[in-house]
Amino acid sequence: MLKEIGLGVGLALLIFLWVSGYDILPLLIIGLAAGALFYLARSRGMLAKNFNTEPMAAGPGVAFSDIGGQSTAISELKEALDFIKDQETIVRLGIRPIKGILLTGPPGTGKTLLAKAAAGYTDSVFVACSGSEFIEMYAGVGAQRVRQLFQTARSSALKQKKRSALIFIDEIDILGGKRGQNTSHHEYDQTLNQLLVELDGMKTNDRVLVLVVAATNRVDMLDQALLRPGRFDRQVRVELPDKAGRLEILKLHFRNKPLADDVALEDLARETFGFSGAHLESLANEGAILAMREGGSEIRQAHFMEAIDKVMMGEKLDRRPSKSELERVAVHEVGHALLSEKIRPGSVSMLTITPRGQALGYMRQAPEDDTYLHTREYLENQIQVLLAGSIAEELILNGRSTGAGNDFEQALRTAGQIIRCGMSELGVVDPDILPADLRYRALTGIIRNQEKKVRDFLGRVGGVINQVVHILLTEEKISGEYFRSLTKKHIAH
Ligand code: ADP
Repeated sequence: MLKEIGLGVGLALLIFLWVSGYDILPLLIIGLAAGALFYLARSRGMLAKNFNTEPMAAGPGVAFSDIGGQSTAISELKEALDFIKDQETIVRLGIRPIKGILLTGPPGTGKTLLAKAAAGYTDSVFVACSGSEFIEMYAGVGAQRVRQLFQTARSSALKQKKRSALIFIDEIDILGGKRGQNTSHHEYDQTLNQLLVELDGMKTNDRVLVLVVAATNRVDMLDQALLRPGRFDRQVRVELPDKAGRLEILKLHFRNKPLADDVALEDLARETFGFSGAHLESLANEGAILAMREGGSEIRQAHFMEAIDKVMMGEKLDRRPSKSELERVAVHEVGHALLSEKIRPGSVSMLTITPRGQALGYMRQAPEDDTYLHTREYLENQIQVLLAGSIAEELILNGRSTGAGNDFEQALRTAGQIIRCGMSELGVVDPDILPADLRYRALTGIIRNQEKKVRDFLGRVGGVINQVVHILLTEEKISGEYFRSLTKKHIAH
């Protein structure tokens, strides 16, 4: 509006000068040149950019209840957000506010949804952008955009009379990668520096409290400065959903769809191993499209089964193990778990064959009390747990696999520790000047002894491995208690 008035007044002034007999040509040329420059700069994004602000109060926002299979991530996130909700208390107690939360995990698992729900939960305005929007060839533009982003967040909060704003930065690794890596120009570094400046400048008693939620799948790529306390010091893992999670997500996306009686949600959840939330949403949609093409009024199981293939082929899933691989992963993890329970009863807290990070499956142990000194027996027990995965594979599947590489590395490191600390048959030695063959013999001696113990034990419990593997393959995840109820009497003998 202001622009139009200014233009009108300028034009009137020019006409007035012209009529009064002034030479207006130089003025005209300057005006045109300035206009052209402004237009160019704007079209190349050199000037401040408007960020996507979504007023959460208006329009239907996303609630945490709309996000399935992420209960751990949601409760961790809520715990951090509760700090913001209770602004008076944090000011009174002088607590440093949480400025940044990092959501890490594969694409399509609901990180954007979580950020939106967080904005709704804290009654904040929501401002979204992506790391790639900051990267331009022109020096200083990225940094200016970061400043603009924070200003937009603050001003929209004031306009909407909210006390807080949530800035969501997707793909933060593009903007927040390790500094000094881009040798061609320092644009990335300047942009990141500006983000750090903004984060450091935020205060508890600011008129608008700003919270930055960022998402990435590559936390290892981030500059360490971002992860320091007072910046993104909270990290929430957002994993691929397990079977129960997939069931929840399917239910959410089937809410508004007419399903035929033959639709078996449990089966669909089982068949969609490795699917993210976004894949499941796409599955629900594709199923409905197939039903529409056939002219049916309801969506049947066959439509969804066909949609599974379509989603899988259309979008190459990152990692989808075959049935036999899954079985191997299950056998391996059950091996670890059995030894863990034998050595420290009650230590298994969860077993899963859903891929997490780099691991195809894993067994989570309940943490031990902090111990700073370890005996030889303790270290040997650790080695046994590490070796048990591959020995279980050997016993049940007649051979080992490459999946145990990491376990062996760790086992050898632990055996090395036994030698270094003078607890091996060699007595107190200096490992640096120990002849290689002597060291080799000592190391393999330790490992072989433990291997034998594990093989004897797993050989004795034998049958129960298959039983647990079968359950793990159908359930994907079992709790420590359930595992103990299945195996207790076998381990005790
Ligand atoms: P990310 O930010 O992790 O890449 P998004 O939050 O953008 O993933 O998810 C994309 C879409 O996939 C969402 O709009 C939603 O339809 C679906 N989706 C992803 N995760 C979930 C989930 N946990 N529950 C329900 N829907 C999900």
